[in-house]
Amino acid sequence: MFKESKACCANCGTLEQYYVMTQCPSCGYIGDKLPRIEIKGHEEKLLFLEFAKYDTNNTTSISIQILEECGDDAFLEPYKDITTNIEGAEILLGENEIMVKTWSENESFIQPLLETGYFEDTGKRIRVSQYCEAAIWKVLNLQKGE
Ligand SMILES: [Zn+2]
Repeated sequence: MFKESKACCANCGTLEQYYVMTQCPSCGYIGDKLPRIEIKGHEEKLLFLEFAKYDTNNTTSISIQILEECGDDAFLEPYKDITTNIEGAEILLGENEIMVKTWSENESFIQPLLETGYFEDTGKRIRVSQYCEAAIWKVLNLQKGE
């Protein structure tokens, strides 16, 4: 375990300590690495942020991936989806804004996520169902593992 890891290969999860050049030494992937995120209460886990786009409206999707170790092997597994999506979200979201799922299994992660410094709560809310309101956050100072 490398507690000081700041990023990993987006393709295979190889930690950036193993990098000599910008190319992943394990799988050959060249591209953005996933930035490490430390969540209060889950510091022992190797968690990374994965950025993608929702196919339906091209808004930003963010999930947390966990690097799991199995013998000598390590692999990335989906851990938690931070964002949610609704039809028409692209009209409601500003630049660098994401629609955050703050309810049910995500509830306990919301405050720790804000404390990571990657996000800022805009105070805006979008009703996504009868019972749920998604929070609109802005993505801040994202270094994408550089
Ligand atoms: Zn790789």
